[in-house]
This record gives sequence, structure tokens and C-alpha cells, in this order.
Amino acid sequence: MNYEPIRKPDISKIAVKPNLLDYKKFREKFRWEDVRRELEGFEDGGLNIAHEIVDRHIKTPLKNKTALFWEGKDGENEKYTFYDLYKFTNRFANVLKGLGVRKGDRVFTFMDRIPELYICLIGALKAGAVIGPLFSAFGPDAVKDRLKDSRAKVLVTIPRLVKTVHEILGELPDLEIIIIVNKRKSPYDLQNMEVRYEELMDRASEEFEIVKTRDEDYAIMHYTSGTTGKPKGAAHVHQAVLGHYATAKYVLDLHPDDIYWCTADPGWVTGTSYGIFGPWSNGISQVVYEGGFGASHWYSVIEKYKVTVWYTAPTAIRMLMKAGENVVHKHNLKSLRYMCSVGEPLNPEAVIWSLRVLGLPFHDNWWQTETGCIQIANYPAQDIRPGSMGRPFLGVTATILDENCDKELLPGQEGNLALKSGWPSMFRTYWNKEELYKSRFKGNWYITGDRARKDEDGYFWFVGRADDVINTTGHLVGPFEVESALIEHPAVAEAGVIGIPDALAGEIIKAFVSLKDGYTQSEELRIEIKNFARKKLAALACPKEIEFLPSLPKTRSGKIMRRLLKARELGLPEGDTSTLED
Ligand code: ATP
Ligand code: MG
Repeated sequence: MNYEPIRKPDISKIAVKPNLLDYKKFREKFRWEDVRRELEGFEDGGLNIAHEIVDRHIKTPLKNKTALFWEGKDGENEKYTFYDLYKFTNRFANVLKGLGVRKGDRVFTFMDRIPELYICLIGALKAGAVIGPLFSAFGPDAVKDRLKDSRAKVLVTIPRLVKTVHEILGELPDLEIIIIVNKRKSPYDLQNMEVRYEELMDRASEEFEIVKTRDEDYAIMHYTSGTTGKPKGAAHVHQAVLGHYATAKYVLDLHPDDIYWCTADPGWVTGTSYGIFGPWSNGISQVVYEGGFGASHWYSVIEKYKVTVWYTAPTAIRMLMKAGENVVHKHNLKSLRYMCSVGEPLNPEAVIWSLRVLGLPFHDNWWQTETGCIQIANYPAQDIRPGSMGRPFLGVTATILDENCDKELLPGQEGNLALKSGWPSMFRTYWNKEELYKSRFKGNWYITGDRARKDEDGYFWFVGRADDVINTTGHLVGPFEVESALIEHPAVAEAGVIGIPDALAGEIIKAFVSLKDGYTQSEELRIEIKNFARKKLAALACPKEIEFLPSLPKTRSGKIMRRLLKARELGLPEGDTSTLED
């Protein structure tokens, strides 16, 4: 499938000049040491993420700039300047210190996207803790697995979720303190181990001397999305902020006057790297919306806050496409100037749709929990090739390796996507799984577990996760290509493609599709979609079977779980489903 490139904007005609004007030139002169100099660090050479994203701004005119516009799920609003964040996070750091938290202790959060979540995470970094944000929709097993594996000492949660925690307390010998944040003042009696956030914060001082962490001290751990198996705890160090800062500047193209909105929850790496660290290390105002997805709600947020830069995910974009154009026209979205996407392959159809309907294309970028920050991206001053994740970030070397990960392949050849190790934000271990961590490297290369190819101009094209690639009659077929073709059919909202074992072909391709509103499944439609795919794809990549599903199984971060489609199809055990969406 070939799509016309979307030409970069005429720089002389746009009001906001991209931070990254010339990819080649910037790449040549880029040095991570220079990025480090744009940040502040401590006099004796240490570094703490909290200092870079909040405290250093207090000595500048950014002090009274709004850092956070909060929109509650019931329509409440709050605003916090960088100075407000400075004072509140100092208080919380004092609270933790008073509770006996020491450098390296794990402090986890399990709460909704309320301002206190951000205050607690940053305050904990100031106290030298290693933070671990958990998504508020997790059930007891998911919370238990993560608290147990990380041996968390403190958990910050809210009355609505505390029942989940009580169910698992018996299995968490390392957990010592539970801090209850009761923003909405619901009646709640404290239990054993529990303390009240509001009381402690009231008593805490606004002055705090930040714990002088070093570049290589652990700062945050994130469990991966669980798309391919049991989630792993990727641990990151304070130095990672160099990556968040530089990519937010050059890929998200954040400028001083921007109002930025990242739709990801801090329970996933995107929601911390780009919902906390990236924008605030650049001194940018951002919106946090507590509510969940809803096309009309989301467009209202953009309209109300005049969002200029928007970072979201393919699953959300596909849902916006499903919701249709009428709802778009009910909102004034003129403030938007730049849009990015991450998390799954972005189907070309979604790029074309956004350009036509929203007037701007989504810029896809690729990275992982393990990489800590964006590694491959489309940039504002560069043509977009729909379906491509773009080119490696400045300071990042990406390549395609052969089957054994020994040899670099040529442009056009498909293989294992690998990154030259050594970028500041790369994970330093999988918590309690050092062997697995080591197994992800070969020589100087970090093996990503994804398959891709690169073209003559250095654009990378995602093929599929190594686990998901289908081997049919001796040919490897990536599910992304097939899924992208299927969702071009007007009735198809989402598609998930797997290989099922076959005596003759090795594997045959089966597609699961969910339909857009207003379409009903029928034998005719199935045949029509099959024929449609046949026109778009090489014969061997055409699905032999198509099954309709009301919706596809997805992780809570919105990724299609092909391993679950496969397990269900083959009647095999489902494996870890702790991150499965309801
Ligand atoms: P797990 O490692 O537990 O199976 P996961 O890999 O989904 O879960 P994340 O670290 O959240 O956990 O996701 C990273 C993966 O998401 C990438 O390895 C890739 O497969 C996919 N991904 C992210 N962005 C893109 C993109 N722009 N295009 C294609 N795939 C992407
Ligand atoms: Mg992964």
C-alpha cells in the first residue's frame, strides 16, 4: 500500500517555527552533553527529575506561569502555577520524610488523575524515592503483583480504591504505610496503616531540601503494558529526564505559549514521560483531564483550554474516527497546531482522516516503556510518509538486524528493530529480572522485540511485534499491514490479525474485526471485506478467515492483545490478563 507523502508545512508561512528545523544538521551537531547543559543539575553534579521539572523554574519568570490546568470528571477546575507545584511537592516530600521514607524506597500511587497524583509523584522524587504509578482501573491482582514485585513501602490511594488494596494487604509484607487522599471529602474511617494526606500536608513545611540524587539513581519504575505477556518492571534513573526534555522539545515541538494535552494516564510510561516530565522540564502549561475517553468530551477539552499540541494514541484516534465527523463540527478546534500519536502502529488511514477532518495530520512516533522516551519519530518540519513511524531521534541510532541479531540488514529488508544502547533514558534493569534484562541486548544493540524495515531515506516502517508476526507458506506477514488494509473498509472500526496453525501453510491468517456504529455483521459484509482486502494486499497476506467481534481485547493502555485473540481461538490458557480492559 502506497500513500502519497504529506508534505511538510511551508515554514515561512507558519506562525510557530518548529524547534527542529533541519533533521540532518541537527542530528550532526546533537550531543546529549549539550542537553545536560540546558538543564540545571546540582552544584556537585547530581540530578533529580523533580528539580528539573519544577524547582529550577521558580528562579525564573516561569514561577507564576500555570503549569497545570486540571479538569475534573465532574466539571471541576483547578489551576496550579509552577510555584504552587513547588510548594505542594515540598510539603509532600516533608510528609514522606516524616513517615520515614528514605532514598531508594518505593512509593507507589494508585489513584485517578487528580492534581494530588502529580504532587505526590513529584514530591516522592524530591524525597529520593523511586516512584511507581499504577493505573486506577487495575483490579486487586494487578495491584498486588506490582506492589509485591517492587516491594513498595508506601502506597498513596483514594477512598474509592482502598477496598481493592484491603483485599490484598495480607500478601504485601513490605507495605508499611497507606496514604489516603480524600479530595472529594467522602466519609472515610482510617484503617490500620493508614494516614490522611490532607492532615499531614496541612502540617508540613513548604521548605524542603531536595534529596541530592545522582544521574544513575533509580527514579521511576513502570510495568510494561502486558500486551505480549506478564508485565515487566522497567526501572529508570534520574538521568532519563534528558530524554524527556529533548524529545518534548524536538518531537512534540513544545513552545513557551503552548497549551499541551497528553491523554495518557501516568500509570503508563507515556503519561509520566510526556504527561509530567517532558512538558514541565520545558516549562510548558499542560491540561490534565480526569475523565475517560468520549469523543465529545475530548473535543470539549481542546476547545475549552485552547489546546495547541495534542499527544494521544491510535486506539483513541480510531475511536474518534468511529464517532464520526459530525461531532467534530460541533466544536471549535482551531487552537490545535500540532498532533502526535504513540503506543501502537498508526494506520495510514488514521493519518489521512485527521488531515481531512481535523485539518492536521497525526505525527506517529515509536518507543517503549523500556526506552523511557521517544526513539523514532515524525517531526514537524519533515514530510510524513503515512504508515511510517519516522526517523530516529537525534542522538539515537536505530537499525534492522537479521534473524540472529548479528548483522545489520539493508534498506527494504525486514528484521529485528534494534537501538544502539547508551541513550540517557533507557531502562537500567527489569526489576527482579536481571537475566531477562540482559537477554535483551546483543553486543551494543538493544533488541526491541519489534520487527520493522527501513527505507532508503531512513524512515522506519513497523511490521509487527516479533511474537505476532505470521509465517504463512514460508513468508512472514506482519499483522499491522493486514489490519491497516482492513480498517480502510468503511464498515471496519478495528481489526486484529493473528496466525493460526495450519498443516499445509504453517499458519493461515485470521482477522477479527469490529464494526463502526450503524453497520451490522452479515455474510455479505464478510465477503465484501474479504474482497476489499484482496484488492489492497498481496495474495498471501489476505486473511483466509474473518470473524466479527463487538470489540477487540485490549490492554488498559489501548493496545490490541493479539496473544489473547490467539489463545481464545486455539483454546489455550489466556496467560496474564492483569492489564486487560473491561
Ligand atoms: P509488553 O512488553 O508487556 O508486552 P508493550 O510492549 O505493549 O507490553 P509498552 O512498552 O507500553 O508495552 O509498549 C511498547 C510497544 O508498543 C512497542 O514495542 C511496540 O510494539 C508498540 N508501539 C509503540 N509505539 C508504536 C508505534 N508508533 N508504532 C508501532 N508500534 C508501536
Ligand atoms: Mg514490550
